[in-house]
Amino acid sequence: MRAFVYEAVATADAALAAMPGQAPDIGETAPQAKFLAGGTNLIDLMKEDVMRPRRLIDVSRLPLAAIEARPEGGVRLGAMARNAATARHPLVRERYPLLSAAILAGASPQIRNMATNGGNLLQRTRCHYFYDTGTPCNKREPGTGCPARAGLARQLAILGTSDHCVATHPSDMCVALAALDAVVHVQSPSGQRTIAFADFHRLPGNAPQRDNTLAGDELIVHIELPANGLQRHSTYLKLRDRASYAFALVSVAAAFELDASGLMRNARIALGGVAHKPWRDAEAEQLLEGQRPEAAAFHAAAHLLLRDARGHGAPGGPGDNRFKIVLARRAILRALEMARDGELTNTGELGTEPVQEFQL
Ligand SMILES: Cc1cc2nc3c(=O)[nH]c(=O)nc-3n(C[C@H](O)[C@H](O)[C@H](O)COP(=O)(O)OP(=O)(O)OC[C@H]3O[C@@H](n4cnc5c(N)ncnc54)[C@H](O)[C@@H]3O)c2cc1C
Ligand code: SF4
Repeated sequence: MRAFVYEAVATADAALAAMPGQAPDIGETAPQAKFLAGGTNLIDLMKEDVMRPRRLIDVSRLPLAAIEARPEGGVRLGAMARNAATARHPLVRERYPLLSAAILAGASPQIRNMATNGGNLLQRTRCHYFYDTGTPCNKREPGTGCPARAGLARQLAILGTSDHCVATHPSDMCVALAALDAVVHVQSPSGQRTIAFADFHRLPGNAPQRDNTLAGDELIVHIELPANGLQRHSTYLKLRDRASYAFALVSVAAAFELDASGLMRNARIALGGVAHKPWRDAEAEQLLEGQRPEAAAFHAAAHLLLRDARGHGAPGGPGDNRFKIVLARRAILRALEMARDGELTNTGELGTEPVQEFQL
């Protein structure tokens, strides 16, 4: 049992005042303090002794749960809005059905009722070794090694890896946010700033202990979604080991518009389960521009997206993830077909489960 201080705050200013100045070390094992939102990831990590914050600042009651239309046609999602409330909100369902589908493909109804939008962005990798404090892991303890590279990598990355880490970012919601060009708004004692979603999560490089570009004392206050015309042709396809309640092996958020001649415009493809961040490739998307939504164009884009994919794990063993390269290729092709045909998801989880708001 490790002692820690718990403090609940009622305003963003109070949260920032309670947060001690600390280095941009959001990924380190023992930060001085952490914000606590729904607790569905952070508390798990503390129970497993993977994260050992000395102070928890509970931000779950901050008045940052609104989901609001913006004057230019976009939507602002409060960082404290629960995942379930976000997925079910009429504005999100109408303007960003892709986001609804992605959130509902993740976790379970109970977890989605607790988990917040801000916390979802900052959930940590599900690499087996990261959770097992009896093994080395560069992300948990920098410089100790990466057993996943030659061990159990089944769930892990095939793109953007480094010698230091092959972990994935496990969020479904973030794959949709990447495809939708979301912008993250953060606040710190020195002011406010915005971070384009593409720059929010980072590749492991030689500092895999850092998952993102947020400083340790920055609070996410909301996420902004710009207006787009992607409602009719967007899909979230999730492939996983079990039909529900499992993280993605591969997921694809695919979307485009069709112009009056039936040609693709404004195409987006974001991949989940394959990299340390949701994976997009501007060149692959550009290939679809002005093309008919047909197999030849889809194959060309999938080929380009996966041109640098590499597998890891003990070859031929249960941890080998080389199969994910083929799986990802097929998933991209299928997702683009589904987007063309107006099929929103393969998970069947778009029903009308009740949204319950819990207060601790
Ligand atoms: C059994 C299980 C299955 C799951 N399956 C899936 C799945 O299939 N797909 C999926 O996407 N997710 C899945 N999840 C993960 C779940 O979505 C996340 O745990 C959840 O989104 C985290 O949100 P939270 O509010 O509980 O965050 P917390 O656990 O409270 O916090 C997570 C991190 O975010 C930081 N933080 C939180 N809010 C802020 C803020 N506003 N500003 C700055 N820092 C902040 C915290 O300090 C902490 O580091 C699963 C979780 C569990 C337990
Ligand atoms: S892949 Fe990353 S998280 Fe997993 S063992 Fe290697 S360093 Fe740790």
